[in-house]
Amino acid sequence: MTGSALKRVAEQRDHSIDPARIGPAALTVTRELRAAGYQALLVGGCVRDLLLGLSPKDYDVATDATPDEVRRVFRRARVIGRRFRIVHVRVGREVIEVTTFRRSPHEHATRNGRVLRDNAYGDLDSDAWRRDFTVNALYYDPLENRGIDHVDGLDDLENRVLRIIGEPRERFVEDPVRVLRAVRFMAKLDFGLEARTEAAMIEAIPLLREAPAARLFDEVLKLFHHGFGEKAGGLLHRYGILKTLFPMLAPALSERGGARLGRELPDVPRRALRNTDARVAAGKPVIAPFLFAALLWPAVDGRMKSLADSGESSLDVLHRAIDAVVEGSSEVVAIPRRVSAVTREIWDLEHRLRERRPRRVADLLANRRFRAAFDFLLLRVESGDGDARLARWWEEIQELDYAGRRAMIDALGADPRRRRSRRPRKRKLA
Ligand code: ATP
Ligand code: MG
Repeated sequence: MTGSALKRVAEQRDHSIDPARIGPAALTVTRELRAAGYQALLVGGCVRDLLLGLSPKDYDVATDATPDEVRRVFRRARVIGRRFRIVHVRVGREVIEVTTFRRSPHEHATRNGRVLRDNAYGDLDSDAWRRDFTVNALYYDPLENRGIDHVDGLDDLENRVLRIIGEPRERFVEDPVRVLRAVRFMAKLDFGLEARTEAAMIEAIPLLREAPAARLFDEVLKLFHHGFGEKAGGLLHRYGILKTLFPMLAPALSERGGARLGRELPDVPRRALRNTDARVAAGKPVIAPFLFAALLWPAVDGRMKSLADSGESSLDVLHRAIDAVVEGSSEVVAIPRRVSAVTREIWDLEHRLRERRPRRVADLLANRRFRAAFDFLLLRVESGDGDARLARWWEEIQELDYAGRRAMIDALGADPRRRRSRRPRKRKLA
């Protein structure tokens, strides 16, 4: 433990935590564990964020009570996880994650250096060393208003540096998902990556291919859906992580030629991430299918171009490209079917919006994915792929009542540019 750092938390009021800003549920959980005779401290992201003046997303509590003992203290507690048993304690509508002090996993079951189980209990000191980054290993005792820093995390917090604890290569091999955690904290906190941590992280990128695919999906959402997606996307691309996670994107990401362009995400995903960040900041909902529609679009687009001479209809070409991309893109990151099914619908519907067949307009407007497909159309048009008038047409027609829509559809049928055959068509309202 570094005495100087400890003193700094205790003495510098501007660098300490105002107990009034701590969530009441986290205080209840620490208080009750203490009353039952256990140690209980806030730890991890909540302490880090409070010290940085940010509002914690959630609270983690570390204790010397075992999961079963924790469960006995709280009425509404549930043990979850296998690799890592933790207890979710419910207080009001909040859930507090309570973890028992661990010790470093080096001493037990690993395969190829990877940790399969991480349930060997330890004490406060060992618990700090098994965590990932120094700024994530700060403890805070809210009852005594006292901070504990075993790993010089406060220094790194002050210098805005992300540094992995212990031997960097070992720690990334142990759990390659830490690569994504590193990017997430760099993006979220705007921290730099310490040099040895960065070198080890880069070396570990290929190991992501063998990381649990479902866990990677969760991490990808954490990277993109919490208000710093554009930054995270840029970092993932520049480190070559994005094409490791989504091998189907590799051709589109490397084809972009030109030093500047090659370093930037393609337009559609970049704009989508920027919009998503704005939505998150405004408290609006964001959905995974739309994220993947935008993220994987360069792969679908590239596929379509390579199939363009096949003589098939453009819709068939699109569907073939979608099949290939959706199948291939779950190789590393498991995109659940409930998500990819909607992603497909968005791509398909957007194509139909572009076609604007008079007889289909009413159905398209009534489709429950219309809004997402329209947003995707806007995104592509803004990226220079498509006609702004087309987007405006769909924007306008949404606002109108039945008669207004009918007039717009009729005008469409009369538009000579839209006529496909010479045969007079029986006009029926969609
Ligand atoms: P967030 O603000 O996103 O919640 P966090 O730092 O709290 O960030 P969590 O995933 O909630 O991240 O994890 C809580 C704490 O558990 C971390 O701060 C870290 O100390 C520890 N931790 C989580 N995942 C790992 C991991 N893969 N390896 C080592 N320690 C981890
Ligand atoms: Mg957390």
